[in-house]
Amino acid sequence: MPKTLYAKIIIDISHEAVDRPFTYIVPENLEGSLFVGQKVNVPFGRGNALKKGIIVDFSDCSDIPADKLKYIHSLSDSDISLNDKRIALAGWIKRNYGSTMANALKTVLPVKTKVSFSVKKTLVRTKTSEELDELIETAMRKRNAARLRLLFALKEEPEIPKSIVDNKLHIGASTVSKLVEDGVIFIREDRILRNSLSFEVSEDNLPELSEEQAAIVNEIRRDTERGDRHTYLIHGITGSGKTEVYMRIIGDVLMQGKQAIVLIPEIALTYQTLMRFYKRFGDRVCIMNSTLSKGEKYDLYEQALKGNVDIVIGPRSALFTPMPNLGVIIIDEEHESSYKSETVPKYHARETAVELARLYGAFVVLGSATPSVDAYYRAETGEYKLFKLNRRLTGNQLPEVTVADMRAELKAGNRSIFSRRLKMLMEDRIKKHQQIMLFLNRRGFAGFVSCRECGFVVKCPHCDVSLSLHRNGKLVCHYCGYTQDNVKLCPQCGSKYIAGFKAGTEQVEAEVQKIFPGVRTLRMDADTTAGKDGYENILTKFLDHEADILIGTQMIVKGHDFKDVTLMGVLAADMSLFAADYKAGEKTFQLITQAAGRAGRGDDPGEVVVQTYKPDHYAITHAAAQDYEGFYNEEVGYRELMDYPPAAHMLSVLVTGADENGAEELAGTLCSLAREINPSGVFGPARAVISKINDVYRFCFYIKSKDYDKLVQIKDSLEEVLSKRTRFKESVFFDFDPQNVN
Ligand code: ADP
Ligand code: ZN
Ligand code: ZN
Repeated sequence: MPKTLYAKIIIDISHEAVDRPFTYIVPENLEGSLFVGQKVNVPFGRGNALKKGIIVDFSDCSDIPADKLKYIHSLSDSDISLNDKRIALAGWIKRNYGSTMANALKTVLPVKTKVSFSVKKTLVRTKTSEELDELIETAMRKRNAARLRLLFALKEEPEIPKSIVDNKLHIGASTVSKLVEDGVIFIREDRILRNSLSFEVSEDNLPELSEEQAAIVNEIRRDTERGDRHTYLIHGITGSGKTEVYMRIIGDVLMQGKQAIVLIPEIALTYQTLMRFYKRFGDRVCIMNSTLSKGEKYDLYEQALKGNVDIVIGPRSALFTPMPNLGVIIIDEEHESSYKSETVPKYHARETAVELARLYGAFVVLGSATPSVDAYYRAETGEYKLFKLNRRLTGNQLPEVTVADMRAELKAGNRSIFSRRLKMLMEDRIKKHQQIMLFLNRRGFAGFVSCRECGFVVKCPHCDVSLSLHRNGKLVCHYCGYTQDNVKLCPQCGSKYIAGFKAGTEQVEAEVQKIFPGVRTLRMDADTTAGKDGYENILTKFLDHEADILIGTQMIVKGHDFKDVTLMGVLAADMSLFAADYKAGEKTFQLITQAAGRAGRGDDPGEVVVQTYKPDHYAITHAAAQDYEGFYNEEVGYRELMDYPPAAHMLSVLVTGADENGAEELAGTLCSLAREINPSGVFGPARAVISKINDVYRFCFYIKSKDYDKLVQIKDSLEEVLSKRTRFKESVFFDFDPQNVN
């Protein structure tokens, strides 16, 4: 009698209680066609409803008698299957970040949807460069900005992928079809990615590497030849040639028949950067961003699996593109907090990339102008190899940064939100028709309304956050959308001295208009960028000089190059220092440094004014001096003193529930248990900083330990307790080495 074969299957339901493999019998007709990672349909539960499952293991025996087991029903129509590496990665994510196996698998697994055979469209120029010049002149005369933008782009690149024209250049369909009608371009349609290797970079077309660049490329080459695997961190200011180094490393990897994944924060995925990769590597470069539909994403995965994609560029989730023979993972702007997932599993792309690379025998290259303290610490302790690029290759100098002490301004009788120096420089730039950016650092801060007599703050009745005053006179909750009329008298003491506190972007705009009547302003914040293209639209307008001053929150300081911006004002530079957050100093330093880097990208030197009430804070002084190491040394001292990451590891546990007592009790129980295991490093439980969102109460506690595995062990013990509970009214979230405290 042939032996019965059993398969362990994870059912695709994301709940702790069903998060374990179930054993099924492999029917004879499927024997031989199943493998680990295969998706199958199985009968589940009392009603035997068909559910999708993923095979995670096989065995010849089962503890459960065969007559109690069910048979696998059929193969699932999802034809992409995970390979063992991806399952291993999911297991690692589950273990290290705390999530169900099903959830971890979903993260690393492409989602199957109806495949909409995506066609890749490319705009192809039919005219010569001289002929284009004529068209450009006409478009200039007619002030046709969109047509002009596309013509300029075509002059530089004879072929431009349509997706980039749509999403990055912001050219409407009518402009494109007009150019087709006029015979300036045609649109080539490729049904699938082409199989032939179409990139033929000859070494002579490439710029000669600087000494600093060459040293990096050569050392990585040597390591690879020797089979030495490392994680590399390149610390180099913007313009120091990091991207060129990435492309050389990728070139080497492709030569060995391997593939590359390049992670770039979505906000920094600019037209210029994308085109550089296209120009160097041709159409085997694929972009994965949030504008791709699920079908298109699936298509891309399929092509990648078939080996038709050499390079995938995208944000965090591009990490999970299934490459058959991955050679390198590059993470640009490594310090960006968007690399940490905000949903379960709360994985960090950097650590996950290192693990993925290990599974493939590949390596990881990180790059940043302001490396995260986490990564730099690992470089300092020898876990990563550190490289530096100290010179700007673009020739233009770093901007001059001055700090304006707003306390002194107040003493001198200046009550405006602009310091005298900033105001003077703004006047100067407006006169010279140069552009200005005003960056309002309002992380962890809203334009809240408070009473000057009793200190009462108007809060959302559903969430534990203050309401923000909008110019239409309404008070709005940024967490749940609750809106109410502004109050005229303090609800607590009846005082009439209750008013909006400090400035939001709208107030800054109003102030600018008041001081410089007629100046054209654009505002970029969560309100104005809502909608699919909001962000790109505003950037494009500013690039096209449709405004003199761009006012915005953190979004304006990332990624984009504005050649004509020669003044950057950083308003309320210290706001982010008040956030209840151990990374407050690091975030402030990064934001100011990035903001400073936005000024003077063109030929004219830039100036930066950093306005603050804390001119002596080390995050501000080092950012103004553009001294990364100085900052790092002070910051790491503080982290070591306080046992914060990276000096130690930290696990945050958040318990939420609509029943306040229930949530508090569960947090207490879990916290006591954690304290039993790790007596010295448990803090809490306490109400979260935001103690309620949408009428759901939040309690949290923290566990610190030098030993990550200890934290994993505690998480496992807590999960064990949770899996045995009978009531599921509360949710529990684990976050390892969190980006924010709860
Ligand atoms: P980063 O990524 O650090 O901002 P880039 O790689 O984009 O730096 O380089 C900045 C500019 O210098 C780009 O315009 C790039 O084309 C140019 N560049 C980079 N490396 C070289 C080189 N070795 N020789 C000449 N120009 C270079
Ligand atoms: Zn009051
Ligand atoms: Zn609310």
